[in-house]
Amino acid sequence: MDKKCVCQKTQRHFLDSAFSRLKLKASRQALLLSSFRETRVTVPVTLRHNGENTLHTFQGYRVQHNHARGPFKGGLRFHPDVNLGEVRALAQLMTWKTALVDIPFGGAKGGVAVDPKQLNETELEELSKRFCQKMAPIIGVHEDIPAPDIGTNPQVMGWILDEYSKTHGYRTAVVTGKPMALGGCAGRLEATGHGVAHLADKAAMAMSLIAEQSRVVIQGFGNVGSHAAISLASKGYKIIALSGSRGGVYSEKGIDVGLALAHVRETGALQGLAGTAAVSNAELLELPCEILIPAALEATITCDNADAIQAPLIVEAANIPITHQADQRLQQRAVVIVPDLLANVGGVLASYYEWVQNLQQFPWDRELVLSRLEKRLSRTYDVVRDLAQERKIDMRSAAYELAIGRVDHAIRLRGF
Ligand code: NAD
Repeated sequence: MDKKCVCQKTQRHFLDSAFSRLKLKASRQALLLSSFRETRVTVPVTLRHNGENTLHTFQGYRVQHNHARGPFKGGLRFHPDVNLGEVRALAQLMTWKTALVDIPFGGAKGGVAVDPKQLNETELEELSKRFCQKMAPIIGVHEDIPAPDIGTNPQVMGWILDEYSKTHGYRTAVVTGKPMALGGCAGRLEATGHGVAHLADKAAMAMSLIAEQSRVVIQGFGNVGSHAAISLASKGYKIIALSGSRGGVYSEKGIDVGLALAHVRETGALQGLAGTAAVSNAELLELPCEILIPAALEATITCDNADAIQAPLIVEAANIPITHQADQRLQQRAVVIVPDLLANVGGVLASYYEWVQNLQQFPWDRELVLSRLEKRLSRTYDVVRDLAQERKIDMRSAAYELAIGRVDHAIRLRGF
């Protein structure tokens, strides 16, 4: 079974468990699982290859899952594997995340099946603007607010803002994750990793782990992994292993994160970082450590390696990095897991702050953004932990129950 199917099955398993604990009738479950609207569009773009212009058509999608609690919110992905099933599952995940962190948004996701690396800047701009033209009737400041995801970036958001504003007037808040010069949010880039580190620290303290004596292993040294590493190192934690797609590096004495970043900038990979030994991505997950942070791909911890994981605390920076069967094995060994639904929600929280600043036309500085982010994440963590303790369930189950319960409550109040 491919990874995407495994993830969709895992997500469905967690949802079904929560539905049955919440004793929701089948009809309500069906309503909570169905999309409000699924839009598929054809995006024509003229590509220039070998001096010739050729018209290509790409398939684009926007799935708006639920807006009971506020406008639809979710990323826009440019990747060759994008398909309706995947976009639908990701849109649903956004609904639970925005509900869990209690921001006034619903959940959505969009994507175009395209390899952005094959397009030049002009072609990418045309693709983004054409996609926006087709989606303009269903997106909007109070309707649906896209953001960057895999294969898209602040520049793509800038193009979408421009296209949308041609027919609606200047509407900065129609997208988040924009360049700073167009109303972007200070601290947005590091928000997810910073939030991961904040929650890892909170969970570690609850387990009486001392920062200076705690070893941290991080799989993935991209945006989220690197900012989590910077933030944890600044709190005194010892980062002993890091990895990228080509493998990782390990040092029992601890890795200087600043040197690792400089090394990656210079050489393009972590390999060869002074004072470290090479370690494979599989070995890295099984290293003795206090905190393990999967921050790369989905379904990296499965039944094949769950029993070999030595960390007593796992913080899920990536989406669905642990399959539901592996999750059960880890639970049996009382491994504490801060679930993705909570751990990586810093990004959408910063997106919410960007939207608020845009609506008010009143920018905040980075310190204010990150302090509000920490406060909100701490509060959410406490609510999840209290429910987990009260009901004698794990934090993932508590997070799903809270999120689904909030969406269901809003649906009932609105009378969908
Ligand atoms: P990124 O592309 O910046 O970084 C991904 C990292 O993973 C890179 O260092 C890459 O080399 C590494 N990697 C790729 N294949 C690997 C492999 N087989 N083994 C080990 N490492 C591998 O992505 P990101 O923005 O840091 O996102 C990381 C994860 O966090 C993704 O699952 C993403 O969905 C999730 N996430 C990101 C955000 C965000 O705001 N960026 C928010 C929520 C969730």
